[in-house]
Amino acid sequence: MTRVDSKRAATGAMTGLALGDALGFPTEFNDVPRILEKCGPWRDMALPAPAYVTDDTQMSLALGRGLRTAAERGPLTPSRVVRPVREEYVEWWRSPENNRAPGRTCLVACELLSHDERRWQEASQVGSKGCGATMRVAPVGLLPGLPGLPGTPGLSGSSGPSAAPGLSDEARSGVAQLQAALTHGHPTALAASDLVAWTIRLLAHGTPPGSLLRELRAYARENRSRYHEWWLGDLWRFAHDHGPVEFIERGWDECLDVLDRVEAALRAPDPEADPCEATGEGWVAEESLATALLCFLLFPEEPLTALRRAACTAGDSDSLACLTGAFAGAYLGAGCWPSDWAERIEYRGELLALGALWDA
Ligand SMILES: [Mg+2]
Repeated sequence: MTRVDSKRAATGAMTGLALGDALGFPTEFNDVPRILEKCGPWRDMALPAPAYVTDDTQMSLALGRGLRTAAERGPLTPSRVVRPVREEYVEWWRSPENNRAPGRTCLVACELLSHDERRWQEASQVGSKGCGATMRVAPVGLLPGLPGLPGTPGLSGSSGPSAAPGLSDEARSGVAQLQAALTHGHPTALAASDLVAWTIRLLAHGTPPGSLLRELRAYARENRSRYHEWWLGDLWRFAHDHGPVEFIERGWDECLDVLDRVEAALRAPDPEADPCEATGEGWVAEESLATALLCFLLFPEEPLTALRRAACTAGDSDSLACLTGAFAGAYLGAGCWPSDWAERIEYRGELLALGALWDA
C-alpha cells in the first residue's frame, strides 16, 4: 500500500491521459507516413505547444467532476451517479470549448440527454460502440475502493449497496458500464469500458504488466454473463437481443477476442510496426482497449515511448494515446511524466485536483 500511496497513481493517470491526448491531437486523422513527414522520427515526437487536449480529456474531466459530486452526496447508487454525470456530459456538449473533433455519438446522445424529461436509456445509442465510451472512463478506475468488500447489489436489482465510503468491485463495474451507456449503449462499449477501468485499477495497485492480460481475461470470463440490471435498468430492451444476458455476452465476447489479438501480437513484438495493424485502429471501443494495451505492454517501463508509439498510428491516435497514458501513469505514478511536459498540459489545474482527491 505504501508504494500505491507514494506513487500517486491517480495523478499519474490523469496527467498521462491528457498528455497522450495532446500528443495524438495533431495526428488523429493521419496515416503513419504522413505523421513521420509531419513530426519526424516517432521516438522523438514532441508535445505540441500549446499542449491542447481534445474531447477525450474534456469528457474524462466531466466524468471525474460528476463522480466527485456524486460521492460527496453519499455512497454511489445509480440515480446518485446518473444525475451529476448526465449534467456534466450535457455541460460539455454545450461548452464553447467543445470544438476538438468530438465524436458523433456523444453529440447525438448528449443532445437527447439535455431534455430532462427523457430517461437516459432513451438517449443511449445502443448501436454505437465508438471509443468515446472507453476514452473517458479512467476516473472510474481511480476512485478509492474497498478491497475485499463483498459485492453489493444483487442481479435482481432491487436493493442498494450497504452504506460505505468506497467502491466495491461490483459497483466499479456498474459505474464503468453506466457512464458508457449514457451515450454508447452497445454491449461492447459497456464491456470494453469496464475492462479499461479494471486495467487502471489493477495497474494503480501494482499488478505487474506481465500478469495483466491473464487478469483481464479472467475478469472478462467472470463478468461475461452478468448484466448489471441495478445500474443499467432496461437498457438491453432497446437492442435486438432476447434477454439481458444475451445482450451483455455479445460485448464481453468481442472483448475476449481482442485480448487474444493483443496476446498474439506480444508473442512476436515489433515496436517499429504500427500497432493498429495487429489490434485495430481504435475507432471502436474494444480496439481502443486492445491497441492502447498493446502500446503500453510494448514499453511498460518507458511511458513516453509508449505514448509516442500510440500517437504515431494510422488509427484514432488521440484516443489511443490517451488510454496508453492512463495505463502508464496508473502503473508508474505521477513522477513518470517529465515536468516540462506535465507543467504545460491544458486543464492542468483540474487534472491535478481530481488526481489529488483520489490519491489522498
Ligand atoms: Mg479526441
